[in-house]
Amino acid sequence: MSINELQLSNELEPCAKNASTADLKQRAAKAFEAVCGYPATTFVQAPGRVNLIGEHTDYNDGFVMPCAIDYKAVVACAKRDDGIVRLISVDYDNVQDSFDVNADITPTDDKLWANYMRGVVHFLKEKGYQVGGADIAITGNVPLGAGLSSSASLEVVTGQAMKALYDLTVKQSEIALIGQASEHNFAGCLCGIMDQMISACGEKGHALLLDCRSLKTKAVHIPDGVSIMIVNSNVPHSLVDGAYNALRHQCEEVARLLGKKALRDATLTELNASSIEKGSDIYKRAHHVISENERTVACADALMAGDLQKVGEHMYASHQSMRHDFEITVPEIDFIVEILSDVIGTQGGVRMTGGGFGGCCVALMPTTMIEQAKQAIETHYEVNTGIKESIYICTAQDGAGLI
Ligand code: ADP
Ligand code: MG
Repeated sequence: MSINELQLSNELEPCAKNASTADLKQRAAKAFEAVCGYPATTFVQAPGRVNLIGEHTDYNDGFVMPCAIDYKAVVACAKRDDGIVRLISVDYDNVQDSFDVNADITPTDDKLWANYMRGVVHFLKEKGYQVGGADIAITGNVPLGAGLSSSASLEVVTGQAMKALYDLTVKQSEIALIGQASEHNFAGCLCGIMDQMISACGEKGHALLLDCRSLKTKAVHIPDGVSIMIVNSNVPHSLVDGAYNALRHQCEEVARLLGKKALRDATLTELNASSIEKGSDIYKRAHHVISENERTVACADALMAGDLQKVGEHMYASHQSMRHDFEITVPEIDFIVEILSDVIGTQGGVRMTGGGFGGCCVALMPTTMIEQAKQAIETHYEVNTGIKESIYICTAQDGAGLI
């Protein structure tokens, strides 16, 4: 299979979805030794993420509350003294990419996966960090393109590997910014900062309330005995980028009409007092973003207080806002929310997570309820939609670091 076919197949094969960190480490170590002919010295990991609440708020300078999940990228690596960085993709059949750190680092045309990593080395260098050569074998079990941010895990794990190998003083939040710069400039995706920040800075047992303007974070404890269920609708995405950009422009337009730097600075009172016609598209977009910001902060407070019922109310309200005001849900996604809210009731909550037009739902509920929730989805989703779902059960995990 060519690398492009592998990219398109969207499967990390044959790495099991439920592989533990130890399994992933062993897989990376084995491939490293087979290709390089000597054992790796250093192992690092960086997780994928799910956003619990705060959708389409990041580019409006607002708040999001993601947590790092059990699915992650793992690297086995060692220094080289010839300035060459050799990347080995374990999941793409040990295909390799290599470049000289001392030369100009640019994206390659034929290995998309390597560009995320090349960009990180490039921007570390640009920030003045003394990086050198390395052999780096990468594997992972974050599903690709499922909205759980495998790309951020790949960027952050690369920064983490260089940090460990070369004792760099780079801060975790800076690794995140470097990962984002790589994604913008080497992969061509103009993402916000949430994904890299949570992958780099996550805390076990906690979600992170992130202020996307200041990058200040606040760890929010997730009560013991609460699990996260992610259901991928597997609805094929189309025209997502165009729709995303259109929504972004509408938000910027309302901010301008309200005389604000960003919608983050507006209140619902100001929106209602403005000349913007109630019920118009831009009114509804702004209504979502402004109310979502308020909900995200309130949801963090409720979670901190261990009030799962309140947390759930904010999640349900967030979903309705995405459905009716932002208009980014699809019937399959609304159906997942309906099935799960029937099971969960007041003991947690569920909402769509991610950019919209398909993708995943995220639910918080007592761990004891997970099996019942899973069964409800397995019983109703596919027979009614003709699409088979994927289910991921998680708890909040630490961000990137040494294994
Ligand atoms: P998402 O971040 O939502 O999973 P993206 O399209 O942003 O989806 O990123 C997916 C891409 O990231 C893949 O096509 C691949 O190029 C790269 N990638 C992610 N994880 C790995 C991995 N473990 N090994 C190689 N490439 C990876
Ligand atoms: Mg991505």
